[in-house]
Amino acid sequence: MKKILLNILTHGDECIGKKVADEILRMYPNIIGEGLDIQIANERAYGEKKRYIDHDLNRVFPGNPMGSYEEKLANQLKQNISTYKLVIDVHSTESGSGDMVIVTKFDESTKNILAVLEPKYVLFMNIQPDRSLISSARIGLAFEMGSENDEKTFIKTMIGVKRLLSYFKLITPQDSFGFFTKYFEVFAQITKPSGAHLKNHIENFLLIKKGEVFAEKVDSSGITAEFDFYPVIFGSTNYETIFGFAARPLDP
Ligand SMILES: [Zn+2]
Repeated sequence: MKKILLNILTHGDECIGKKVADEILRMYPNIIGEGLDIQIANERAYGEKKRYIDHDLNRVFPGNPMGSYEEKLANQLKQNISTYKLVIDVHSTESGSGDMVIVTKFDESTKNILAVLEPKYVLFMNIQPDRSLISSARIGLAFEMGSENDEKTFIKTMIGVKRLLSYFKLITPQDSFGFFTKYFEVFAQITKPSGAHLKNHIENFLLIKKGEVFAEKVDSSGITAEFDFYPVIFGSTNYETIFGFAARPLDP
C-alpha cells in the first residue's frame, strides 16, 4: 500500500499547503517515490485564486460523477485518497483558531497517529463526517494550524508533517539537519551606552550591516555597527550595559 499522501489546496485560496509541499520537496528532493505523494486537490480553484468553483470541495465528498465541478472532482479524488495509509490535508484558517488537527474517524489507527503527532487540539468532526476529503482516507488528518500569512502556521505545519514523515521512516532526523532550522553562533556582545535606544527598524535575526546606524544615544547621536551581525536577544531594555548579542550564521 502507498504510504503518505500530502494533499494540498482542497481550498484553492489556502496556499499554505503549497508552501509546505515546496519546502518538503526542497529539503527532500528524492522523497517522491520513496513513499510520499503530493496532490493538488483543487487545481482550478487555486488557478483562479478562489476557495472553490461551484461548491466547497471539503463538503461534497464522496462526490457525484454527474454533479457540479467539485462534486465530480471529489468523485475522482476519493479513489486515490483511499489507497494511502495516511492522508494529510493541509489547510489554513482565518477564524482565529489554530493548533488543530481535525479527524473524521476516531478509531485505533487514527488515535495512534495522533499520539505520534501530539497536536495541541484534536477535533473529531462528528457532524457530516463523510462529506470532507479526509473521510475517504483510511487515516486522514486535516491540519488547521492557523492563519494563512502567519509564519507560525507554516512552521507548525512543517513540524507536524515532518514528524509524520519520520514516523513512516521516509526521513531520518539527520535528513533535516541544516535545512529548515537556521543556525546562528553568538560571537560578540553589543555595548549599550547608558540611556541609548535601538532604532525602530531593528529586529532580531535581521542583518545589521557594517556602518549602519542601529541605535541612538541620549544626545541623539547615532551608534554605528562596526561589523556585520545578526542581532539576537536584542532590545533597548533587556540588559543594563548591552543591547544584546551579535550572531552570525552557523553552518551545521
Ligand atoms: Zn480549508
